[in-house]
Amino acid sequence: MKNVAVIGAGTMGNGIAHTFAQFNYKVNLIDISKASLKTGLATISKNLDRMVTKQKISESEKTVTLKNITRFTSIETGVKNVDLVVEAATENVALKTKIFKELDTICNTETILATNTSSISITEIAAVTKRPEKVIGMHFMNPVPVMKLVEIIKGYNTSNEVVETIVLLSKKLEKTPVQVNDYPGFVANRILMPMINESIETLYNNVAGVEEIDTVMKLGMAHPMGPLQLADFIGLDVCLSILNVLYKGYKNPKYAPCPLLVNMVMAGKLGVKSGEGFYDYSNHRKAEKVAKMFS
Ligand code: NAD
Repeated sequence: MKNVAVIGAGTMGNGIAHTFAQFNYKVNLIDISKASLKTGLATISKNLDRMVTKQKISESEKTVTLKNITRFTSIETGVKNVDLVVEAATENVALKTKIFKELDTICNTETILATNTSSISITEIAAVTKRPEKVIGMHFMNPVPVMKLVEIIKGYNTSNEVVETIVLLSKKLEKTPVQVNDYPGFVANRILMPMINESIETLYNNVAGVEEIDTVMKLGMAHPMGPLQLADFIGLDVCLSILNVLYKGYKNPKYAPCPLLVNMVMAGKLGVKSGEGFYDYSNHRKAEKVAKMFS
């Protein structure tokens, strides 16, 4: 496996492209938005600079990594002759099923189709294709170049051979793969999102302020970052989508998104990516400072 396409150049897509390219895979980075491609590449370049400064990679490795990435605005041209597609477009069932239907008609029959979805059923996505045995969840964590975990989700029809291939591939990227079954939220978000939602409820109920809630969780539970700040990093729209999937999937009110989260998303306060969430990132240097905490 040498050629990989990544669909979506947002928070996750640019990190996934960076990681594959750093390990010498040829990456076609595809996004419908030219602006996202430009920002995505700029983010990769900045993150590589930081790795050079920290002497984790050399200047020439940075150059090679960037050269391994080619940009595309069309899925059709971007996925030609790739061995693997990792889809990291917006968290939306209708969008993902549309993309997978298209991929199934364009890609070679041998191409493995992976999705980085945080919560949507792999089995449902696979069902729109004629190759459900080759559809799998490859759930990277944010920020991808730094975080070790890849949650590998086996859909109902995913073959063992494809699971083994993706497990091996994740190890080649120096990640730690963990295999789980396909139920809403898988493991990571089934556990994380109720905690984030409860933190937002705690704020909504005026029990404590943003910094107080985050400080309690950081100092009291030894979390490296408070849940509200983590929500800002994940993206409040992404958190809301995942909670809706959990709520719908388990039909359990404990997953109902807090009204404050719903309001903030409607108001366009999406966290780091929009410049404001529970914290203010409008000042570029502030956002940089928070980003450094992760690297
Ligand atoms: P994002 O909003 O930052 O980026 C999504 C990108 O997809 C945008 O650049 C958008 O232009 C692009 N896009 C939308 N429709 C497209 C299409 N038809 N073709 C090509 N590109 C298209 O979102 P994100 O946070 O990077 O999330 C992407 C996926 O990764 C989601 O499924 C999300 O659940 C998952 N995920 C997110 C995180 C996180 O921390 N943000 C963590 C793990 C997984």
